[in-house]
Amino acid sequence: MSLDRRHFLAASASLATLSALGTARAATAPHRFTHGAFEISVVSDGYLALPTAALAGDAPAEARAAALKSAGQTGEQYQSPTNCTLIRAGRELILIDAGSGAHFMPSAGKLTENLEAVGIAREAITQIVFTHGHPDHLWGLVDELDDLAFPNARYVAGAAEWDFWHGANAERGLPSERAGFVTGARRSFARIKDKVTMVKAGDDIVPGIRVFDTRGHTQGHFSLEITGGDGLIVGGDALTHPVISFAHPDWRPASDHEPEVAIATRRKLLERLATDRTRLIGFHLPFPGTGIVERNGTAYRFAALS
Ligand SMILES: [Zn+2]
Repeated sequence: MSLDRRHFLAASASLATLSALGTARAATAPHRFTHGAFEISVVSDGYLALPTAALAGDAPAEARAAALKSAGQTGEQYQSPTNCTLIRAGRELILIDAGSGAHFMPSAGKLTENLEAVGIAREAITQIVFTHGHPDHLWGLVDELDDLAFPNARYVAGAAEWDFWHGANAERGLPSERAGFVTGARRSFARIKDKVTMVKAGDDIVPGIRVFDTRGHTQGHFSLEITGGDGLIVGGDALTHPVISFAHPDWRPASDHEPEVAIATRRKLLERLATDRTRLIGFHLPFPGTGIVERNGTAYRFAALS
């Protein structure tokens, strides 16, 4: 598509936003730090508006209400932040998850504007790694016109995740309201099928950035461990809520495809994080989603650190 058309649309969109709000909304600045040989930036993609009931439908009502209250979530909906991680590794500029793009929720899909606000062009991204195939992580690989949003990037996906979304279980195993997730995942993956590398647990994205298995949220969900200091884990959606995932890892969020596997994965990951004092970046934890895990009785708590 022509640049003119893109600029025209972008200008129309900003004019519409300006007239709707009366003022321009400032971009969210990335959170930056150095870790070992890597420069890390956590970049907001905006947030999702989700039903509170989906967080732990099977939990005892009183304990659930108390957990939500301590997270400041007392309404029927809550805002779930979406934090993409950008890693500069030598000449590579690696994005972990591409955000929601323009076609999932109006409150999300802000990644490219937040990158551009700090002078990072979409063309500069060399690799995009997908922790899993849910819309808020995958659909942002295309822009509002369905062109590739990061035109020079190569892609990395989990072989097990790719197989799940393309197999018959994706249609049979998901609730009907998520049928669109299957269509969306297949459409998105089809766009990159010639530029994608499949990985499995133990594979390196580049030296010092390694894939490890955190399945359960989806069948092929993985996280990344990054060497340096006490370590850094980009956890994707293994731990999604700042209170429930840590204080009640055995509760079952509706978004987990395989609840029992997700519980075992959470417990193992929490124990490792608490023992090693490894820093975590959580995709849905309060921006920038960085912190450490502490033991708290028989469970854990998240201590945000920026
Ligand atoms: Zn997610």
